[in-house]
Amino acid sequence: MFPPGFPELALALCGLCVGSFLNVCIHRLPARTSIVFPASRCPACAHALAWSDNIPVASYVALRGRCRYCRASISMRYPIVEVLTCAIFLLHWYVFGPTPLLAVRLAFACALVVLFAIDLEHQILPNVITVPGIAAGLLCSLFLPPGPLMSVAGIAFGGGLLWAIAEGWYRLRKVEAMGFGDVKMLAMTGAFLGLKLVILTFVLSSLIGGVVAIVLVATRRADMATRVPFGTMLAAAAMVASLYGDRLVAWYLATM
Ligand SMILES: [Zn+2]
Repeated sequence: MFPPGFPELALALCGLCVGSFLNVCIHRLPARTSIVFPASRCPACAHALAWSDNIPVASYVALRGRCRYCRASISMRYPIVEVLTCAIFLLHWYVFGPTPLLAVRLAFACALVVLFAIDLEHQILPNVITVPGIAAGLLCSLFLPPGPLMSVAGIAFGGGLLWAIAEGWYRLRKVEAMGFGDVKMLAMTGAFLGLKLVILTFVLSSLIGGVVAIVLVATRRADMATRVPFGTMLAAAAMVASLYGDRLVAWYLATM
């Protein structure tokens, strides 16, 4: 029907463009400004950007990472998010193929990319993503895996577990171990992936968090009181669970 490689090429280009839009979300959501208006502007000089300044990756390379109008340097985050989103789109294609689940998991993955970047930079996880995300995940589960029962169980486990940890730690140490943004984010993950994979997400995020913390403390870039952007690790873990979770769990159970 299509020449070989056509779906991959189309999806890769689509991923670059979506990545460009995710950059806008990452830049504007923490500032609570509209993601639609005004059109793209240079954050330094506010000059409106031409279409040719907005081509994913290519514009960054052509302009050598500087604004065409004021020469202010453009954050590396822009091309990184575009290339990352492109790679994520291709990985999803190889795992899910042309199925309705592909569309759902791509939407979930886009939310994860935005949460990953915003939590890393600002240590917040905006409710405008996580709360509608819980509803969207549950709605999709009415028709697709993991099914409504497992989705509800995932929300209860994800939200309930982190809420209990946050509340318990607060009572014990009188410091906030994590914000309730993390609670809502894991509930959203449970809604999309279901009970089994939200448990896996939590285990993976703890492993990733542990390794990152050890590296940071060992290289003296942090001490034990440094707040780790847990949402960033949750996003990475949820992405792995969404793509390879079923295989990981099957492999783990087989080696038991
Ligand atoms: Zn500028």
